[in-house]
Order: sequence, then C-alpha cells, then structure tokens
Amino acid sequence: MATLTVTGRGHHGRVLLPTVCPVCAAAGPAPCTPCRGAVRRPPPTPAPPGVDSLAALMVYAGVGREIVARLKYRNARSAVAWLADGMAALVDAASFDVVTWVPTTASRRRQRGFDQGRLLATAVGRRLHLPCRGLLRRRPGPPQTGRSRAERLSGPLLAPSRWSPTPPRVLVVDDVVTTGATLAAAAGALRSAGAQEVHALVAGRRPMGRR
Ligand SMILES: [Zn+2]
Repeated sequence: MATLTVTGRGHHGRVLLPTVCPVCAAAGPAPCTPCRGAVRRPPPTPAPPGVDSLAALMVYAGVGREIVARLKYRNARSAVAWLADGMAALVDAASFDVVTWVPTTASRRRQRGFDQGRLLATAVGRRLHLPCRGLLRRRPGPPQTGRSRAERLSGPLLAPSRWSPTPPRVLVVDDVVTTGATLAAAAGALRSAGAQEVHALVAGRRPMGRR
C-alpha cells in the first residue's frame, strides 16, 4: 500500500483526506496524472428518446471503467471530486433548474451502503450551484435478472418521487449509460410529473455494442 502524503483543501475549505489513485493506487491526486491521461473521451452521444441532450465525460472502458466501478469502495470514492469537476464542465448551469439522479435498486444500495448516482449528482449540483433533489423513485417490480431481455431494454421501473411540482428544466445524472433505456425511462417519469426539458449527464458511456 502506498504511503499517504497528500493533503489539500476542497471547494469549501474543508481539509481533504489523503488520497490514492483509484486505478493504480499511487499516492496523490485521484485519479493520478498518468491515469487521467489514459481516460478516453467519448464521441458525441445521441440522446435517448425523451432526453433533450446527453453529455458523457469518459468512455466506460479501461481506466474510465475502473474509476467508475471503484466508486463502490470507500477508499476509491475520492475520484468523485474529479468526476464531478469534469462532468460539471460539460454543461451550462444556466440551462437547468434542478439536478437529480437515477436511483439505484434498493438491493444494490443496501449492498454498497450508498447510491453512486446520488453521490455524483450531489457533487455536480454543488459545482453548478443548483439544488439537487431526489425527483425519481424505483417502482416495486421484478428484479432486473428475472426480467426478459425486452423488459430489461425497456429500462427500470421509474416513477416521479413525491417532490412536487417537478421544476421545468431537469438535469439527470447517472454513472453509466449503456442503451439509454434507463435515461429514457427517467425522462418519461419526469415529464409525466411536469418537466419540460430533461437533459442527461453521465460519467461513463459504454462503447456501443458492448454490455
Ligand atoms: Zn493512477
């Protein structure tokens, strides 16, 4: 294990804990400079149905995949700040009224102890100086693994939460986009609750044709 030596101050003057790169475990910024250099930027991504725009920070493969996948480990969560900085820089805060996230399933949240979409949305909202609200909830339904491929492709069962009314222009944050079905379902639920514009911002975009 590398020696922890780096400390610094965050956006709000809080002393940050020493960090290590979530990919290669080098002490210092998370991720480290060489790993940042290895992150691939995705090509422009077509927005899923019902979504006005979609921005993605990284290709969800190689180093980009490691950074997102390791958010589930407490000692690798320091990469959230770097991810949120990069994600916030892709959008214009003046275009939105509120930031929200796609809630993970209750079982995954229990397993991990947190919701990584919410973690990213909170950090992005702070950088954009926008409120972050839980506008979506999971409907009780069969688990993903027990559903047919067609059902899985139609996305999770999402519904508006009790936050009401939904502000007109919503930015939905998620960790990874694959087919876009989840974001399309989120957009449908938000529009049914009164949203007029739904934009999406994700950390990673899975390369096309891979699951
Ligand atoms: Zn590294």
